[in-house]
Amino acid sequence: MQGPGLEWRRRCRLRWRHMSDLQRRRFTSNTRLGPLLRLARHWLSPADTAVLDELCASWRAGKDRSTALHLKQRGNDSFKARDYLQALSLYTKGLRYVPADSPECALLYANRSAALYQLHRYQDCVEDIERAERLGYPPELQHKTQSRRAACLQRLGGSGGESRESEPPSAASPAPGVGVGVGVGVGDVRGMREVCVGTALYCWASLLNHSCQPNTTASFQGTRITLRATQPIPAGEQVLHCYGPHWSRQCVGDRRKSLQTQYYFWCECSACVREGGDRSPAPQAQFLCRPCGSVLSLEEGGYRCVHCTQLVPQQSLQQQLQQLRLQMEGAGNMDSTHTDTALAQLQQCQADAQSLLPAQHPLHGEIDDSLARVYATHGDWGAAAQHLQRSLHAVELQYGAGSVELAQQLLKLAQVLFNSRSVCEAESVIDRAVPLLTTHYGADHDTVAELKEMRSCLQSLPGRR
Ligand SMILES: [Zn+2]
Ligand SMILES: [Zn+2]
Repeated sequence: MQGPGLEWRRRCRLRWRHMSDLQRRRFTSNTRLGPLLRLARHWLSPADTAVLDELCASWRAGKDRSTALHLKQRGNDSFKARDYLQALSLYTKGLRYVPADSPECALLYANRSAALYQLHRYQDCVEDIERAERLGYPPELQHKTQSRRAACLQRLGGSGGESRESEPPSAASPAPGVGVGVGVGVGDVRGMREVCVGTALYCWASLLNHSCQPNTTASFQGTRITLRATQPIPAGEQVLHCYGPHWSRQCVGDRRKSLQTQYYFWCECSACVREGGDRSPAPQAQFLCRPCGSVLSLEEGGYRCVHCTQLVPQQSLQQQLQQLRLQMEGAGNMDSTHTDTALAQLQQCQADAQSLLPAQHPLHGEIDDSLARVYATHGDWGAAAQHLQRSLHAVELQYGAGSVELAQQLLKLAQVLFNSRSVCEAESVIDRAVPLLTTHYGADHDTVAELKEMRSCLQSLPGRR
């Protein structure tokens, strides 16, 4: 929505031009918000107030249930037409017309959560479902929101450390040797995102400065936060923590923008300086030219092949990618009775991805991860391990050798190798996974204990010295 902000800014610019140098200096030399606001109020003329009143009157948005209802209906129509972005925007507009905390609000939040789900915004989806239920979303309809929430949480995966999900149950296999019941929890690489379950204030942790490439990692045990160094920190050096935007997940521009909006500072951390200093980064190859297999480079009007100069509209490529993603997720979520269909579909995805995306694209790793999961469900541990090895490589490239994402992936691979009784490989992966998981979660974490148990179990196998 285009708000009245532009108009008001124009007015401010005009006023600025008519100020004396002394006034301007008083304004710019003041860095504290309180005195600055007092100064601004002092200079606000009756003419300014009149403009402001007029602007507000023309942008009045009173509560109006019938408008809200109309917007909700249009949102539903867009949803049916699969225009989820449009639906999202209409539900959001509708929310502005109903009184906060009303039952209508609950319905709009619930509908919006469905659109968010389709847009893969699982975290936002969960938050809307919680709002809807808090505001009294009808219990007889809650089965819908509950199953949507469960699907979201599954996609969001393990929450930063606490809860490694032990699904799918059908993949459990009798462990060799003594009775260590190790089920395989082949989760989802792309689902590795932190799930927000609440907000808390940590007095000392909040003193830490931010870096997009921090030297610590935080984990939670109940409500207690533990911060661990991920590398040696020399005396006198800052202990740095990541406030959210991490170098491996966002580009420098997006990180700086989000830190600026949320925390009001321009990030000058080592990662930002390194990436931001390079004014013209080589555009990352995102797509391949289907006929000739060369890289497409982005230009105005679409992607152009560097080899055969064919121009492909950006929208068509984005749609193909989206389609591929949906097919991959659909296949990955099929239950164990449809393993063959899921495998065929994922193999098709893999072939499509190879002709559409360059080798370093993270989707290849995600497809391998899905394939691994289907093979594991099938009990084909060897094939599962092979695909996990490949996705491991992709995860390391994307998130780095010391990342928690890699630690989780190593854990999965160790479990699969353990089940396939590949003793030597399992041991070497366990040896890689244990220190990394210890760094992130501490030596007494469940995952570390589980890996150590697996190792001692492997050592006690008959036929081993
Ligand atoms: Zn930074
Ligand atoms: Zn070409």
